[in-house]
Order: sequence, then structure tokens, then C-alpha cells
Amino acid sequence: MLETKIIGVVWRNRPLYFVKGTPLYGYIGFGVIDRGTNVLQVRPTTLCPLNCIFCSVDAGPHSRNRRAEFIVDPDSIYEATIEIARFKGGGVEALIDTVGDPLTYPYLTYLVKKLKRSPYISSIALETHGALLSHRLIDELNEAGLDRINLSIDTLNNEKAKLLQGVEWFNIDKVKKLAEYIVQETNIDLHITPVWIPGINDDDIIEVIKWAYRIGAGKKWPPATIQKYNIHKYGRKVPGVKPLKWRMFWRKIREIEKATGLKVSWEMSEWGMEKRKRYPCPYRKNDVTAVKTVSPGLFRGEYIGVAVKKEWLITIYGGGKKIDHTYYVRIINDKDCLLIGRIVGET
Ligand code: SF4
Repeated sequence: MLETKIIGVVWRNRPLYFVKGTPLYGYIGFGVIDRGTNVLQVRPTTLCPLNCIFCSVDAGPHSRNRRAEFIVDPDSIYEATIEIARFKGGGVEALIDTVGDPLTYPYLTYLVKKLKRSPYISSIALETHGALLSHRLIDELNEAGLDRINLSIDTLNNEKAKLLQGVEWFNIDKVKKLAEYIVQETNIDLHITPVWIPGINDDDIIEVIKWAYRIGAGKKWPPATIQKYNIHKYGRKVPGVKPLKWRMFWRKIREIEKATGLKVSWEMSEWGMEKRKRYPCPYRKNDVTAVKTVSPGLFRGEYIGVAVKKEWLITIYGGGKKIDHTYYVRIINDKDCLLIGRIVGET
């Protein structure tokens, strides 16, 4: 049974929900996502203190499209992660990636510690822009058994970083020093992964990659990759910048590798990634099922519901939605079992 409870309001008008229980599969914003490999995306928080101008999930205080935020009970998300990891036969990486920043999660160290003890989890990683890193938090995460931090640094220039991250208080020099501390003083591996916004930080990403190699990132996993700037339905768009086509992106990546002599593209196997059986998806496109609404969704116009028969989270669009109400919903998208449905009637 899934419980959602408002525990506060963030950034003046967004309710913050605490989510507990089951199911925690099927929603892009929180819970666990299985994309058919030995890596599970674990999403315990949607919060982020930054306003990156390119944010594909429109996170942070200046978000225009978000209407609610969520944090998930750590024991519930642990159970959900382990259930799928066990189904996959173990040897699974728990990648705490989120549609915000994992460092906002108040139970992060507790969750990492718990996951570390599981025989089904082989590594634990998280993805962050590093704004909330501190020596103390790094030490705690190191002790808890965190294996890797994927750190997005999009420029080494302080003024440009403030612009890209959308907040005056962002201090890239501090993040750099903490990154070096991670490499030198902890067992946590560091992977540097700048977002490349063509025409905005072309030279910066090359400096970032050189710096990543120089400081010794990538003790066990690849030292650096470059992320492609993409536009999503609710994401922020950088004025005047068009995302590159994938073919062009990979051509540029090869040019960067040739010019610097540094590798930034990696095969799945070099990441230790492999295909694995997917946890069974209970519904398919065009199925119609009864769904009970439990809360508004992350973004304007969407609600989150739980399928009544075979419990699973479904994002609902259409109709005059009420909370705690049951609707008939037709599934219109089932990719990776992140189910999206449209209301077709009331029960
Ligand atoms: S890109 Fe990441 S760090 Fe930046 S606002 Fe979005 S979620 Fe936050």
C-alpha cells in the first residue's frame, strides 16, 4: 500500500510529499527504474538546490513546470531495489541518479549503508552537480560504502559556473577541491561528466576532461564522459542552442579524443554493465485498468496513481482528476515499464 503525505512546502508553493510503502516502480520521478541491465536507477528524492539553465527535468527553486516534490522512505526504496536486484540474480549496481540531486536526500548515508550490506548489490554510485558536497558528507558516504560519484562539472570557470548552474552562490572552486579530496582521501571513485552545451562551453568541457585525468579520476571506472545537451518536454532550454544530432555528437566526441589523446567514450562492458532480464511489467500499451490517484505528479497536468489489480505506479493525464479517486486508464506508453496512461472513464 502506498502512502503519500505532505510534510512541508518548498520554494513557496510546491508541496513536499513523503512517500512510503509499495509499489515504487513505474514512475520516472521517484522509486526504482529497471532498463534491462544490471544497473538499477534508484530515485529517493526529486529536490535540487540549483537552477541549471539546461536542466532536462526542470528541477530547482526556479522551476516553472513542477508542482510537487517528493522524498521516499529509505526502507521502502531499499526493499524495492533489493526485490528487483534479487530477481536479476544479484551483481547489480544501485545508481542513485534522481530527477534532482541525491545529496538533498536526508537519509542518503543510511540508504547507502543499507544497500552496501545486501548480497545482491555489487556497487553503489550517485550522480550530482556537487553543490551540497562537504568534507563531512564525503567522509560519511565513504564510511557507508559508496563506490562512485558521477560528478557533473560543466566548466572550471567560477563566473560561468554560476551562470550555468543558475545560482549566485555556486562555487566551482570549492567543488573542485572536494573532488580532489574524494580522489586522494577516500575509497570512492570519481567519474567526471560535464554537460556539453554547444557554443556555450565547448572549450570548458575539454579543460574539465583534462583536469579529471590530471587529478586521477577513474580509479576503477572510466575517468570521464561528456553528456549531450537534450531538450525534454518539461526541461529548460538554453536560448539559441539546438541540441546536436547523435551522429554529430559522436563525431565531435571522436574529435575531442583525437585532439586531447584522452578517452571519453566507453563501451557498456568497460562500465561493467551487461544486459539482464527485466522485472516483469504488469501492463502493456493499450491495456485498460483501474487506477487510484494518490497525489499530483511532479509536473503540471500529471497525477500519480496506483493500479488497483496488479499494483504499479502509473502517471495519469487527462480528465478532471481528484486525489483518492479511482479511474479507468488506458496505457499509452510502456517504455521501460514507466507507465503513462490517459483517463478513459470513472469507476
Ligand atoms: S541539471 Fe541536475 S543539478 Fe542542475 S538543476 Fe537539474 S537536477 Fe539540479
